Amino acid sequence: MSAFAFENRIWDEAETTPRDRLGKLQARRLRELVARVAEVPFYKEALARAKVKPGDIKGPDDIRRLPFTAKEDLRQHYPLGFLAVPRSQVARFHGSSGTTGKPTFVAYTADDLELWANLCARFLVAGGLRPEHTVQIAFGYGLFTGGFGLHYGVEKVGASVVPAAAGNTPRQLMLMQDLQADVLVCTPSYALNIAEVARQQGIDPRTLPLKFAHFGAEPWTEDMRKQIEAELDLIASNNYGLSEVIGPGVSGECAARNGMHISEDHFLAECVHPDTLEPVARGEQGELVFTTLTKQAMPLIRYRTRDIASLDSSPCPCGRTGARMSWVLGRTDDMLIIRGVNVFPSQIEEALLRVEGTAPHYLIEVDRPGAMDEVTVHVEVRPESFSDKMSQMQVLRDRIDREIQAVTGIRANVQLVEPQSLERSVGKAKRVVDHRREKGLI
Ligand SMILES: [Zn+2]
Repeated sequence: MSAFAFENRIWDEAETTPRDRLGKLQARRLRELVARVAEVPFYKEALARAKVKPGDIKGPDDIRRLPFTAKEDLRQHYPLGFLAVPRSQVARFHGSSGTTGKPTFVAYTADDLELWANLCARFLVAGGLRPEHTVQIAFGYGLFTGGFGLHYGVEKVGASVVPAAAGNTPRQLMLMQDLQADVLVCTPSYALNIAEVARQQGIDPRTLPLKFAHFGAEPWTEDMRKQIEAELDLIASNNYGLSEVIGPGVSGECAARNGMHISEDHFLAECVHPDTLEPVARGEQGELVFTTLTKQAMPLIRYRTRDIASLDSSPCPCGRTGARMSWVLGRTDDMLIIRGVNVFPSQIEEALLRVEGTAPHYLIEVDRPGAMDEVTVHVEVRPESFSDKMSQMQVLRDRIDREIQAVTGIRANVQLVEPQSLERSVGKAKRVVDHRREKGLI
């Protein structure tokens, strides 16, 4: 049996740079980066405090002498305090939505945009994209980096784009069928939404023209991939990025499907303990931290992503040498601490996907009515499994209860709800309502 789920093809020779040469390249680019950010007020101050000069950087490990950058630092220097080039050199702005109402802006020079398209082309080709494909992009086009990032990546590869943008699922189905789109780009939860709306319209989702999909922008799991691939009869690849670092294109899966290769020639990756900020042991899970080695308009040093994953730099059969990151287990700020146990929404999802008869639509409600935390997981039952018989529903509920306990180590109250009763998302799905936060208890 081949080591690959589909044909292995490499877009950019730089993806196969031997690791010793890659380390030297990273060190040189890191030195140049430290020199370039010297006039950005935040870094000028932080580097002076750390007593680091560009000449002090000898190898990639010297990154540990440099200061971290957090989302809060970007907020405090709103809107453009991290800009490292004259305003006239900025070719485009994007932004990520913030919980406080104002987005965090990121800026790109023309060279940054060219690099971004190339990095997206890398993971798209790694995930099976070929020039003869037609790609439907169901990501939002706007400040969000997903739509435009993938759009120019697909064009770079030479495939054709259907810029459908987010939402209006019946229209997505119409476009997909009439233009014979064989590749889908969106969030994994939206792909399941598309399959469901197709079934409601009497269309078997497996008969849609889709052959490949490239999913990102929210954490998902290997079990969810199996489900999407079965429901839509396609090959789904995982990719990763965040607007502060560049957008999509930081890493993506190859045909060996054993992690997402990071473009380490442009992003120096670290994995640290979220509390101590010390590196975790090799292969252990921790918070991912990226340094943008080559970005011009808004380079960042040691940016804390708040995403939890692990890194693996062992050789991959595809020939790419970039370290692979695992599936993102969750975000440090999505992490729920329930009765002292760390629980990620993705773990609840993993548990649900093991139980036949439940749809992957769920909502986690956390509360602390007395001294103890209580968790209620609302789970939609699939139409074919929904029954008026109490006993059948009880069996299903017990199974879910056991799986959640096995995966997370906590007991949850499981509430089965009718098919279609939970709210659907067109972008990132809302999975958690934490009443403890509203009550000021956490
Ligand atoms: Zn590989």
